[in-house]
Amino acid sequence: RTLSVSLAQHSYPIHIGSSIYPKLPYLLTEVGVSTKRSLMIISDSQVAPLYLNQVQSILEQAGYRIGTAIFPAGEKKKNLQQVEELIEQCYHWGLDRQSVIVALGGGVVGDLAGFVAATYMRGISFVQLPTTLLAHDSSVGGKVGVNHRLGKNMIGAFHQPLMVVFDVDTLTTLPRRQLISGYAEVIKHGLIWDRTFVQWLAMRAEPLLSLDRASVIEAIERGCQVKATVVAQDEKELGIRAVLNYGHTIGHALEAISFYQQYTHGEAIAIGMAGAARLSRQVLGAHASLVEQTEALLRSFQLPTRFEQDWDETEFIQRMTQDKKARGGKLTFILSKQLGNVEIVRDVDAVMVKNVLREIRRGSC
Ligand code: NAD
Ligand code: ZN
Repeated sequence: RTLSVSLAQHSYPIHIGSSIYPKLPYLLTEVGVSTKRSLMIISDSQVAPLYLNQVQSILEQAGYRIGTAIFPAGEKKKNLQQVEELIEQCYHWGLDRQSVIVALGGGVVGDLAGFVAATYMRGISFVQLPTTLLAHDSSVGGKVGVNHRLGKNMIGAFHQPLMVVFDVDTLTTLPRRQLISGYAEVIKHGLIWDRTFVQWLAMRAEPLLSLDRASVIEAIERGCQVKATVVAQDEKELGIRAVLNYGHTIGHALEAISFYQQYTHGEAIAIGMAGAARLSRQVLGAHASLVEQTEALLRSFQLPTRFEQDWDETEFIQRMTQDKKARGGKLTFILSKQLGNVEIVRDVDAVMVKNVLREIRRGSC
């Protein structure tokens, strides 16, 4: 399956399929990368032993000159020091302005390798080969970057890839918890934009969790479609793109307050979406069924809808006002009146947020 992201300056294809890596040379020439150009594959220590050989030999056999750079897996390495090390490796290998970086891995590899591509010699082309379900989200939209001790994803750029090639066979080796977390973003894409996609997902938790190929390809395609549509309307996040942050205000606060240890990103935003649905009932008068359907859907994918700890509410609220979307200390939320539809709501009353936090704390109803 192929879909296209259309942006002001250029558009690029997203190819999703089973066993599609053998088509990489053909797909590269389609986006204008001839075998005369050299490629640098950047991957992490967990993904490289699984898929690097395959990708590298397919590309070498087609005649490309290939370099590789591997860094230790994990969010901790998504920092400026790692960028410098990768840039050094690219330089010593002889990467020039005509070369193309190939990011093979999950969101960490995509963000980091994409940032190297955005900055090396003032920017060179790159291609995304996502290997996690979450990366259906991170590989589309052109946000690349690294963390800083002052904040997650603090340093970055907008740099669109030449194309995205998602071979869903790679998901078979993904740890189950990571797979389930990825479905939180898939579900989010349905909840914010596409009611029929939500209904489709509600009937397919079982085949999707057991990686039935046709279902997975369709889920990723529909998720990417939502992301691409939103990004095409607002590439630089000046307005509507913020709807992609549904569930993220509470989710980011949960992640930060537990020092990124307790929850995966997907788990945190699942809880955040349960909270956002409840807040939508209070603030927008959304029907109770919105909450019920949202939570039932998340639970059917084995995602959490409640959190454990007894944190200080004021600190929790303060974390949310530090969220990127909170301007001037006011609480801004993405809320939903109906499944498949959201809006940006500013100046949400902190008392209502506290009520919701009590509702989604484990032990409450
Ligand atoms: P990740 O890249 O760290 O992958 C999770 C773990 O799974 C890693 O240990 C990785 O080595 C391993 N792994 C990856 N693919 C595998 C496979 N096929 N088989 C076995 N193991 C595999 O994390 P992620 O969850 O993919 O992405 C999270 C990152 O994405 C965060 O840094 C987040 O900020 C970023 N992100 C970016 C955007 C964006 O728009 N740029 C959007 C959402 C998230
Ligand atoms: Zn997210």
